[in-house]
Amino acid sequence: MKKYLYLLICICFFTACTSKTTQNIDTIIEEEKNILVGINYPITGNKKLDTIIKKDVENIYNTFKEEYETFPNLKEQSELNVDYTYNVINNRYINVTLHTFINSSILANPENYMKSYVFDQHQNKLLTIHDVIEDSDFSKFVSHVKMELIKNYKECILWDELKFTITDQYNFPLFTVDAEMLTIYFNPADVTASYCDIIAITIPLNQLQLKLKITPDIQVPTTETFTSTPKIIDENQKVVAITFDDGPSKYTNEILEILNKNEACATFFVIGNKVEIYQETMRKMINNGNEIGNHSYNHKWLTKLTMEDLQEQITKTQDIISSVTGYIPTIMRPTYGSINTKIRKNLNLDVIMWTVDTSDWKNKDVNKIVKNATTNVKDLDIILMHDTHKRTANALEKIIPELRKQGFEFVTISELNEIKKLRK
Ligand code: ZN
Repeated sequence: MKKYLYLLICICFFTACTSKTTQNIDTIIEEEKNILVGINYPITGNKKLDTIIKKDVENIYNTFKEEYETFPNLKEQSELNVDYTYNVINNRYINVTLHTFINSSILANPENYMKSYVFDQHQNKLLTIHDVIEDSDFSKFVSHVKMELIKNYKECILWDELKFTITDQYNFPLFTVDAEMLTIYFNPADVTASYCDIIAITIPLNQLQLKLKITPDIQVPTTETFTSTPKIIDENQKVVAITFDDGPSKYTNEILEILNKNEACATFFVIGNKVEIYQETMRKMINNGNEIGNHSYNHKWLTKLTMEDLQEQITKTQDIISSVTGYIPTIMRPTYGSINTKIRKNLNLDVIMWTVDTSDWKNKDVNKIVKNATTNVKDLDIILMHDTHKRTANALEKIIPELRKQGFEFVTISELNEIKKLRK
């Protein structure tokens, strides 16, 4: 929720500032014989920061592929998931964290680690902890972090690391800052045992009276709600539902324009952590008569998650969609199309798969995508596409008129289900 607040603030109150950011997200989603890859990372609009983040992501991706892609005799696929948090304070300080999660049957425990970036757009540089905390207060800050570590993580602390690492000379490479608090992070094996989680220590600035060299500030946003207009459905019409996974992205708006121009609609299974950056797109999506479905919060391999983590993936996505658009989804599509009874039974959402796969995520040829989407299509088919590629938008321009020529009309998933019921 907090991220949402900050983002709105930047859009609403600081647009006059010269160092404006244009946010986007880059997505890499791949499914190969040995590996599953789900990566989302922000494009902040600051060239210097974006180059640094992109290089780090490429490193993570290449290292993973080198290690796992050709690993012989794996029982099941290995998964790489990269997720992020992003917010901008005062239209000046960009906070980004990247979270890497690797799960494989050759690992005793999943690998879990993060990187953080606090970037000052005025000075055009990454900030270190010494750029943030006044030198006179640094010792006070170090003692506080140490105390919090001992208080909350006694069971897994590496005491020697704590003693020799957490000193006034330590650089605290992992941190973020906002108006109310400074957050310090430690990766597993930094000061705790390698099987422990990433640790986050939050320091409320008021409470500790910590003097900062920077002056973050926030203001309160407004909210809006969604009102729908019901569509008249002809149950005898031959219909097809086009669906898009893995968005929203910088290409979604173009896809919405194409749908609108052709008086067609579709269903978008969105990834929760991308929703707040494309708020306008999300609102346009629903206001144009399309449907929104849930495709998890950060594209984790859902069948591998605990019940609690699975619920979190779904609930967080429901919450962010409804706070941005006012619409609450009733359908979901599992990541990598991977499903089990736990997901079907425990989620309060209809699970929607597909019947026609365009393979647009790996097929670079627009004509092939068009052919996949328009050959042997039957009444009530569900077509799978991804609104994360320019070629998908190009293909859609040809797919809609071709399917219309074949006598199809376009409906959302809920409308498709409604038609099925009416025909019974
Ligand atoms: Zn997906």
